[in-house]
Amino acid sequence: MLAALIFVLWTGKTRLQGNTSSFAADTAAWSPAQMELQPQTTPVVPPQTKTTPTPAIKSPAVKKTATAKPKQQTKSQPKQLRRTQSASGKVFQTTRAFKNYTPKYAIALAHPNNFGERYSQDANGVLVKNQPIIVLHETASTASSAINNFRTSHTQDSRQVSYHALITLNGTIIYIVPPDKRAFGAGNSIFAGPFGSETVKTNSKLPPSVNNFAYHVSLETPRDGIGNNHQRSHSGYRYVQYKSLAWLLAQSQVPDNRITTHRAVDRSGQRIDPRSFDFNKFFNLLHSYRQPVFSQKNNNPQADNV
Ligand SMILES: [Zn+2]
Repeated sequence: MLAALIFVLWTGKTRLQGNTSSFAADTAAWSPAQMELQPQTTPVVPPQTKTTPTPAIKSPAVKKTATAKPKQQTKSQPKQLRRTQSASGKVFQTTRAFKNYTPKYAIALAHPNNFGERYSQDANGVLVKNQPIIVLHETASTASSAINNFRTSHTQDSRQVSYHALITLNGTIIYIVPPDKRAFGAGNSIFAGPFGSETVKTNSKLPPSVNNFAYHVSLETPRDGIGNNHQRSHSGYRYVQYKSLAWLLAQSQVPDNRITTHRAVDRSGQRIDPRSFDFNKFFNLLHSYRQPVFSQKNNNPQADNV
């Protein structure tokens, strides 16, 4: 019955489905942009005072790999992080092209034991304040099969799994875990970012992972890629999937260099998803849907009217 309900939800037969305006009104809390508003997480951009370290730098969990002091690091910071915040605290704002695209969406909340809270401390009681990252995946199954799995109660830790959102073959966005919660999208994993290696051990019995500061998004695998998990590639994702993915992530303040893949963060040696992902196609769309509030040359907060 659940499966039938989910199918109805994401095939667009219910009132849950909507356009951009109803998305904003009804499901704002599901937007990745909301990640930055949660008390457990921190703003993507550094505070306006340049002497204050970014969350990633001051985090005890990563201080061994973050070698530079904030002042020394200013010049070597990646472009997105070097920009000054606008008066609204935003680094990126969405564009007219963003407003002109209205992907369909549905909500299919995962079973509560397939996701958890984001921790402010690791398993050793050390404060963690990593900036958010976005981790891209593919389902390797049909979307409905993946959603069924997330909505099924799993009592074994090893079987608990979820993404925050999934994008079906027709570009519909399925919201599965609220962004302020910790989805179980990656096991043993480390993000090798601009400030060094980042990972958080939240369970003393399991390897550390990026889940505590990750927003996981998955693309439904094309039919020729299903059942061929050992195949290194497939026919790729549809353009409408890239559009919906870019539209979704354009609402976040996560910089390009903190958008990564399961393959890149995985340390189990078993994950290679998303296979056949075209980053050029994705970033072209993302940059058409969001733009920096400031240009590099005009970094004057007074010029910002947002
Ligand atoms: Zn994955």
